[in-house]
Amino acid sequence: MKRYISPLLILLPGLFSAFQSAATDTLLNCEDIEAAVEVQNGVFVRPGNNGIIFEDKNIANIGFIVGEEAIAVIDTGGSINEGKQLICQIRKVSKLPIRYVINTHVHPDHTLGNSAFDDANITFVGHHNLAHAMGVLSKTYLRRYNEKTGENISDESIILPQTKVLDELEIDLGNRAITLIATQRAHTNNDLLVHDQKTGTLWLSDLLFHKHIPVIGKSGSVGGWLDVIQKLKSKSINNIIPGHGPLKINWDEAANDQIRYLTQLRDDIRKNISTDADLTEAMESIGLNEAAKWQMFSHYHKRNISYIFTELEWE
Ligand SMILES: [Zn+2]
Repeated sequence: MKRYISPLLILLPGLFSAFQSAATDTLLNCEDIEAAVEVQNGVFVRPGNNGIIFEDKNIANIGFIVGEEAIAVIDTGGSINEGKQLICQIRKVSKLPIRYVINTHVHPDHTLGNSAFDDANITFVGHHNLAHAMGVLSKTYLRRYNEKTGENISDESIILPQTKVLDELEIDLGNRAITLIATQRAHTNNDLLVHDQKTGTLWLSDLLFHKHIPVIGKSGSVGGWLDVIQKLKSKSINNIIPGHGPLKINWDEAANDQIRYLTQLRDDIRKNISTDADLTEAMESIGLNEAAKWQMFSHYHKRNISYIFTELEWE
């Protein structure tokens, strides 16, 4: 497997403050990288911007949690360069070793930065379905990434999870326990929740879209997703980190918005299928009343209908 700069090497003061990016052959200077946002004590987020996968950079909210002995990274971004920028942001706040990379699900804006963390001392962790999903999808993601960017990242840069979360798994970062919870089919069939026990932070990643229209993955399930959010809504949670959208969040409101949108899509698509209407008609008519309520609506709404239609057609 191709090796990239080890995160541990970046500990050496000054030596690697600027280093060659394998992806772009441009110099990445850590000093130019904006610091991550500390949303809770020891919980840091690199906020994403609204954008289109493969066309725009830094789309998803990704980040890391710092314990007393080690660091866990949560998602690595949409390119190796994004992963390296995240390492810069980590080193701005801590010299502790990175022990875990947790991928919340397969989508490229959360996983294509994995190889920036390629190091024998780092364990990659994911939902028990993630390795299979990456096996099926990641080469296609890379090909599309290369086509869009003109780069030539090889398949060797794909890193699958070594540790699979079957149900729940606790990891300890040194006086800081993090619980990883594998969910049922929801946004995808490989969603992982990250719960920082110390601050009561729930890293929902793409199980929650905030202001940004919810986007369902091809392997997702609208009913499963609604179920997961409805169950979580009843729990008292201190702090939520959505996969996309602003970090300042009212959990109740954000959950209700997403539940309202997904419920309408599910119910209207079911009706549409029961009257033997076709997918094109569904895409032209369903959920248009939601358009003004969501950012990026025109990019993802019709695709949501198409995926949910395909899912519900056979129920
Ligand atoms: Zn996603």
